[in-house]
Amino acid sequence: MVGSMKAAVFREPGLMEIQEVLVPEVGPMDVLLKVRACGICGSDLHSYKLGFYVEPGQIMGHEFVGEVVEVGSAVGGVEIGQRAMGFTIGVCGTCYWCQTGNLNNCPSAFKNSTGYGKPGAFAEYVKIENVLPGLTFHAIPEDMSDEEAATLEPVSVAAFTAEMTGVKEGDKVAVIGAGLIGNAMMQAMKAIAVEKVVVSEISPLRQRMARELGADAVIDASNEDVLERMKEELGVGPYHFGEGAMADLVVDAAGGRDTFAQALEIVRSAGTVALVGLPEGDQVVNTTKIVHKSPRIIGCLGAIYPKALEYISEGKVKTRPLITHIFPLQDINEAFRVQMDPDKAIKVLIEP
Ligand SMILES: [Zn+2]
Ligand SMILES: [Zn+2]
Repeated sequence: MVGSMKAAVFREPGLMEIQEVLVPEVGPMDVLLKVRACGICGSDLHSYKLGFYVEPGQIMGHEFVGEVVEVGSAVGGVEIGQRAMGFTIGVCGTCYWCQTGNLNNCPSAFKNSTGYGKPGAFAEYVKIENVLPGLTFHAIPEDMSDEEAATLEPVSVAAFTAEMTGVKEGDKVAVIGAGLIGNAMMQAMKAIAVEKVVVSEISPLRQRMARELGADAVIDASNEDVLERMKEELGVGPYHFGEGAMADLVVDAAGGRDTFAQALEIVRSAGTVALVGLPEGDQVVNTTKIVHKSPRIIGCLGAIYPKALEYISEGKVKTRPLITHIFPLQDINEAFRVQMDPDKAIKVLIEP
C-alpha cells in the first residue's frame, strides 16, 4: 500500500507531533495492520517524560490491535480483514544470548522492535516484520473486543511473570502496584488458585479496581504501614536477626522509589521476589536482607501471548474495567498526560 498516514512522532520529552508520514512498505514476510486501538505502556511514559527508551523521531506504541490490510507474498496463514496483534521481534540471532536461547536478553531486541526502534502503532497503520503466526503474530478471537485485545500485550507480560516465578496453588502472594500489569497479575494469581493475594497501591482508583476484580486484601500504601498490614494479611516471618512478612512471592509491579526494599521485607526467607515494574531512578536497598533471607530475585522481561489470549477469552483476567480513557490520535499529548496521573487513569487507549 502506498500513500501517507497520520502518526504521532516523538519529538522531545513532553512533546509528540501528529505528522503525515509514509505508510510502511510491506516486504514478502511482513503484514500491514490498520490500527484499531493502542494502549500507552509504562515504558512509553518514561520515554515521553524523560526520553528513556526511544530517540526523537520515533513512533511509539506496542500494545495494539489492528485489522490486516496487506499481507506479504511469503506469509502463510494470514487473511486480509482479520484482526490481529503482534510484534516485530528484533533479535539478531547471532549474539551470545540468541545462541543460548535467551532471546529476551539480545541487546538488539529493543532497537529493532515495534514501538522502540521500528515504527509503532500510535499511527493509522503499523507493520509487523517477519511474521510467524503464533509467535510474532496472533489472531484475535471474534468475541474479543478491540479494547480487550489492546491489553493482550501487558497481560502477556503478567502471564510471563507468573510463569517465571513458578507460583503455585496454595501460595501467598503480595503484588505491589495495581496498574494494568499489577492488576492482571493479581487476577492471574487468583486463576492459579493461590491461597491469598494482597495488593499494595497508592492510588484510590487503582485500589478500588483491585478490590472489585478479586484481590483478597488491598492496602492503601499512601496511608497505611505496608509492612505491618502485609504481616497481618500474610503472617509474620522471622528470619536471621529480623522479622518481616510471610509472602511466598512478592511481585513489584510498581518500580517505585522504595518498592524493592519493601518487597525484601514482605517476602519470606527463601521466597521469590519478581521485578516487573520499571523505576525512573536508582533504588537503595539493604543487601544484608538479601543475604539473610536469601530470596530468589528475578527480573521479568518477556511475554506469553497464548496464555494472555486464554486468560482474557476465558474471563479469568478482566481488563475492560481497567481501560479508563480512550482518545483519538490527535489528542495523544493529552492522553499521555492523563495516563501519567495514577489517580485518574489505569489504562489509556488511543484509537486512531
Ligand atoms: Zn508495554
Ligand atoms: Zn542477539
